[in-house]
Parts: sequence; structure tokens; C-alpha cells
Amino acid sequence: MFKILQRIIGITGRFKARIRASYITSFVKGVMMKAPLILCFLAISSFMQNTMTKEKCLYYGLALVVCVALQAVFEHITNVLMSAAGYMVFADMRLNLGDHLRKLPMGYFTEGNIGKISSVLSTDMVFIEENCMGVLSELVAFMISQGLMVVMMFVMDYRMGLMSLAIVGAFLIVGNYMLRTSMKHSVVKQEVAEDLTNEVIDFAEGMGIIKTYNLLGEKSKKLTEEFKTSCDKAIGFEKAYSPCVRTLYLTFGIGSSIMLALSGYLYSEGIFTPEYMVGMAFFLFDLFTAIKAYYGHMPRLTVTAASLDRIDEVFAAEELKDLGKKELPATGDVEIEYDNVSFGYTQKDVLKDVSFKIKAGEMTALVGPSGGGKSTIASLLARFWDIKDGHIRVRGEDIRDVSLGSLMDSISMVFQRVYLFQDTVYNNIAIARPDATREEVEEAAKKARCYDFIMQLPDGFDTVIGEGGASLSGGEKQRISIARCILKDTPIVILDEATASVDADNERAIQEAISELCKNKTLLVIAHRLKTIADADQILVVSDGKIVERGTHAELMDKNGTYAHMVSLQAS
Ligand code: ADP
Repeated sequence: MFKILQRIIGITGRFKARIRASYITSFVKGVMMKAPLILCFLAISSFMQNTMTKEKCLYYGLALVVCVALQAVFEHITNVLMSAAGYMVFADMRLNLGDHLRKLPMGYFTEGNIGKISSVLSTDMVFIEENCMGVLSELVAFMISQGLMVVMMFVMDYRMGLMSLAIVGAFLIVGNYMLRTSMKHSVVKQEVAEDLTNEVIDFAEGMGIIKTYNLLGEKSKKLTEEFKTSCDKAIGFEKAYSPCVRTLYLTFGIGSSIMLALSGYLYSEGIFTPEYMVGMAFFLFDLFTAIKAYYGHMPRLTVTAASLDRIDEVFAAEELKDLGKKELPATGDVEIEYDNVSFGYTQKDVLKDVSFKIKAGEMTALVGPSGGGKSTIASLLARFWDIKDGHIRVRGEDIRDVSLGSLMDSISMVFQRVYLFQDTVYNNIAIARPDATREEVEEAAKKARCYDFIMQLPDGFDTVIGEGGASLSGGEKQRISIARCILKDTPIVILDEATASVDADNERAIQEAISELCKNKTLLVIAHRLKTIADADQILVVSDGKIVERGTHAELMDKNGTYAHMVSLQAS
């Protein structure tokens, strides 16, 4: 339990001082809550000893009002300190997480980790900031209060002190058992929640396919099963946990009764005065409320511990090493060079000894059967993954020796699958170069053949695009992504030719946009339609992770090998 508290405090970073201050205010609030009881005890003692006067009565009344007012004030200060700190801690943490995710290799995002990232951001962090940070100060205050109660018992009588200590020990045993039970189930519950998130994302993303192939029944059966598992685990948790809560309450009742019996015994032996006896009656059911309330927060804390584990897991994912200090040279005869490159997503090699060179300003096309390794070759250039063996050089420098920033400043990519942010059209283009002027952004849009359709949108460039770019057609989204690249204006362009069919108008516009983008650039094109690359300076036929043929269109046609066969197949 202390370990969890320490971990939570550990994440508070630069807000630690603020949180420590809230322990004090929370403790003062706790004392103010108990003070009326003490005042009542004093008042009754005065009556019993016949020493009560009008003035005394007035003072007690006034003190009561002050206590209640101070309690409200300190409660307010604690809330302000804690809840604001909670939100600020997680604002920092989200920014750090964003920075970390940015540096992870692309592979991380394709290995079933999307559900984990989504749960960490939307469930775990929100849970801790909303449920846990606010009670942190109370928990610490509970510990201090319980300690004080035990000390108070020792002050009254050492036997009372020893007995209260033994009862606190019993609470600790029950509490730790609760902690283990709750911990075990929290981990399982969260794993189930993660699977459920993955399943829901998969279901939502695949809705088009599901409807086309009429798989709704089958897919929703899988989803229903996940919901049922999640429900079963939640019920399992309740079944295992509720006996623990009962035992905790029982310990509280038995503990308080023992303390009452002991004080009765001490009174009967003449050790306690009648006033002490009355005082005990006042405090009896308050003796162990702090530790009971402390363990009452257990489920929250164990969920928090499991959440922290997952947050740590995401933060522990190894970032792509950005150790290169060099800047890319401004020019070089050979712009890109793959030198015996081998690579595998797993242990198995996907690329084996791939070597080729691209001169500045030339176009190289990658063609070949699906799954041959074309996209892999292209994505390695942008360091989406790091290679196993060999070297990839840009203008003579190994890309691992160059800073990621410098490398990315030289490369732009047009993917088949375009992602637009839920933001204005303007920002979606300007993201490529935030310091660009409005004229430059509009000029890029014109070159990418998007200007006309953008001007027809309700707010022109200031129209907010729906989530995932839903309100634009596929061809329009593609052109906006090309406008981004035109604005970025890098010397190297990687182009993954779209396979999805678009209407003739869109196709022509996209081709024009691409021609604008590719002017005077070094091009690496993943080609699916061979007629678009007939003019390429170099065509590489990639199959089974190797370059099996290379040359110009004419040379390869003369060879009458794989390429010529592919051309004849597409022509027929
Ligand atoms: P192409 O672009 O020629 O269709 P890819 O480069 O996409 O081929 O794929 C080459 C091989 O690598 C295929 O066997 C594919 O299944 C595998 N592959 C591609 N991407 C990943 C990935 N993210 N994780 C694991 N394997 C992958």
C-alpha cells in the first residue's frame, strides 16, 4: 500500500511540493473535524465536575463555529491544491507520452499496441487524475490521524495504547490480504479492457468490410464474447473482494468493542475517571475510522497501481535511437544508397542484401509481386524501422549517423492511406511547414490541384475536416496530402502509388499534382501500374526480399524476364 502511494507521489514530478502542502491542509481539516468531539467532551466534563459557567459555554460555542469554518476553508484549499495538481501532472504526462510515442519505431504501432495506447490515454490516465489524485492527501492524512489516535490511547493508558496497536495490526493483515486480492483481479480486469478496446477498434475500422461480406453476425459475436468476458471478470472481482470488505468491517466492530470493554474494565478498577469513560464513549467509534477509510480506498489504489504499470509499459517501449549528431550534406552525387541491406520485422529476414543507388534528381521505381518487400524498402529510408545489416546512406552519410530531424527535413512521403487531422484544411496542409505564409499554403494547394474544391467548402481553407477526413472524397484527401508534401518541398520524395481506383477526373488531378510534387526531386516510387513508370531512370523488380532484376523499361523488356512478364500481364 505504501509502495503504491510512493509510486503515485513519484509521478507528481514538479508538483510534489504542492501535493505535500495538501497533506498538511488535509490533516488540519481532519483535526478540525475531530475538534467538535473534543469540545463536547470538555463541556460534558465541566458539567460533571460542576465547573461550567456562562462564559465557558459561550467560548465552547464560539470554538465550535470556528472549527466548522476552518474545516470548510481547509477542505477547499486541499481540493484546489490536489485536483489542480492532478490535472497538471497528467497534462505534463500526456505531453511526455506524446513525445515518447513520436520517437517509437512504426513497428510499435502495428503490433497490437494501439489498444494499449488508447487505454492508457483514455482510461488509465483519466482514472488516476480523476479518482486518485484527489484522495491522495486524504490517504496521507488518514495515516497521520491513525497514528495520533494510537498515541492518544497511550497517553490515556499504556494498556489502551497496546490494545489499539494490536487492533491496527489486525487491520494491516486484513488490508494486505484485500490488497493482494484486489491487485490480482485489477490486472486481469485491465487486460480484458485492453482486449475489448482492440476488438472495438477492429470492429469499427472494419465496418466497411463487415457490411460488404455480411459478417455482422460473426464479428458482433466475437465482440459480444469480449463483453461477456469483461462482465464475468468484473463479477469475479466482486465475489472475491466483498468478503474482504466484510472482514474489514468486522475488524472495525470487534476492535471498537474490545476498546470499550477494556476502558470499562479500567473504569471498574478505578484507573479511569468517569470523565475518561465519557471521553472514550465519544471517541470509541472514531478510533479506527481512519484506517478503515484508508483501506476503503483500496480498489481505487489497486486499479491505480495496474494503470501505472501499463503507463510504465508504454513509456518503457524502446525509442528509435536518435543518436546521430550530423546534418545531411547539402549536395552529393549519389543521393540515396542501399548497401547490402538486410531487415526483418521479426527474426525472419524480409529483405536480404538489397543494394542499389539513386542519383540526385532521378526516379527509381520499385515493382514486383505483393508482399515482395517494396514498402519495406521505402519505409526503411525514413527510419520507420532500423535495419539489421548493411547501410542506408543519403548523400554519403549513414542515416543512423544523421539526426532524425535533419533526415525528415529531406524526405516527404505520399502514402496510399491518407490521414487528415480533425482540424482545418489550412492546418492540415500547413502542418508540413508551420512557418509557411498563407500565400505559400494556398500556392501549394493550387499546385496540388486542391484549391478549387477547397474554395467550394463552406469556410474555404478554414473548414474543419471531419474525424479522419470523412467529409472529403478519397481523391481529394490524396491531393491534400500531396499539397502537404509540395509545401514541405524536400529533395527526396517517396511515393506509394495509389491502388484504389478513383474516378477519371480525380485520377487526372492526382497525376498532375504528383507531377508538380516530383519536379526536380529524387524519387522512390512504389509502383503498381507499370505504365506510369515507363520513364523511370531505374526500375527495380523486388521479389521475396531481393532485387531480382534492374534496369530501364527498355532494358528490362529486352531481357524478357519477370518485368516483361508483368507488363504483358497488365496489358492483357
Ligand atoms: P510489398 O510492399 O511489396 O507488398 P511489404 O514490404 O509490404 O511488401 O511486405 C514484405 C513482407 O513483410 C511481407 O511478408 C509482409 O507480410 C511483411 N510485413 C510488412 N509489414 C509488416 C509489419 N509491420 N510487421 C510484420 N511484417 C510485415
